[in-house]
Amino acid sequence: MKTSKIIALTAIVVALAATTTTVNAQLNVSIPDIPGYQTLKCDFHVHSVFSDGDVWPTVRITEAVREGLDAISLTEHLEYRPHHRSGDMTSTHDRSYDIALPQAERRDVLLIRGSEITRPMSPGHANAIFIEDSDPLATEEWRDSYAEAKRQNAFIFWNHPGWQSQQRHETLWWPEHTELYEGGMMHGIEVANGRHYYPEAHQWCIDKGLTMLGTSDIHSPIQADYAPDRHRTMTLIFATERSAASIREALDARRTVVYFEELLVGDAALLKSLFDSCVEFTETTPDERRITVEWRNNSDLTFRLRKTDHDAAIDYMPTGEMTIGPRESGRFLVRFPEGKHGNVNFEVTNMLVAPGRGLPVSYEF
Ligand code: ZN
Repeated sequence: MKTSKIIALTAIVVALAATTTTVNAQLNVSIPDIPGYQTLKCDFHVHSVFSDGDVWPTVRITEAVREGLDAISLTEHLEYRPHHRSGDMTSTHDRSYDIALPQAERRDVLLIRGSEITRPMSPGHANAIFIEDSDPLATEEWRDSYAEAKRQNAFIFWNHPGWQSQQRHETLWWPEHTELYEGGMMHGIEVANGRHYYPEAHQWCIDKGLTMLGTSDIHSPIQADYAPDRHRTMTLIFATERSAASIREALDARRTVVYFEELLVGDAALLKSLFDSCVEFTETTPDERRITVEWRNNSDLTFRLRKTDHDAAIDYMPTGEMTIGPRESGRFLVRFPEGKHGNVNFEVTNMLVAPGRGLPVSYEF
């Protein structure tokens, strides 16, 4: 890499001086767009009183606005409606969406019509979103419900595959899931749901080419489950524009990253693009035996770096680890004790390209 002029780098190294700040928790997390796509924050799995949630549907819109979400889907259980059974909420399965829609339009939140098909394992629970009408999905047989969702051209994803109530000891893939997958009735899986990340689901998505989703599956008021300054589990969508149609296209094309606590889970190329869009590096004061790198994180995301195998001729990241917090900036040093330049290698350990495997990054100096 040339040192003759200031270059934007994407590399990290010895911390000279972290000039700012603490790692802040954020509610409305700012995440930049990536080249070619807008980054949309979405939650395709929330509940209201129309199934077993505790809030009125419009509250979900208010919460979404507060957290800067671009899109949500109210996915009421088709088969589990305690307030309906008690005689309090006796409307059709479409009512929740219909109530929330005017508020969503007023507040500029994209509302995607959906329902949760709620069956014992197997196949367990799944969300069908981008449907036209929820009522026909309420069928006796689970296969008929999926078939109707498919007929309506739904995007269907398996919910919380490792949910303790249905798979207590092991997260297993059942023959029914093969049937749905092969029948074009499973397009994605929740890799994270609420407070849980499912490494098995992560691997299935990689192996089978399924879309990775992260959702809150929120039933309570959101702040009952998440501290007031913490973001919910969500799906980042990389869309050509901010519209429902573009979200659907991105889901079908698997341009998603799951955002769960500090973890970002997804395809390596997307994660690299996101990392490059967040963290900016500028090389300064070069000489034969060292370079200084100024860095700035232009996002509210946190990145945790760990040095990996590298050319012994260069010296960087002396503790082996480094954290780049939200909106932080600072400087780093790369030394070349033998006067010979080489590769700086590290892994972004909270950007998972596979279970337990961070995003590998390498830069030549
Ligand atoms: Zn649910």
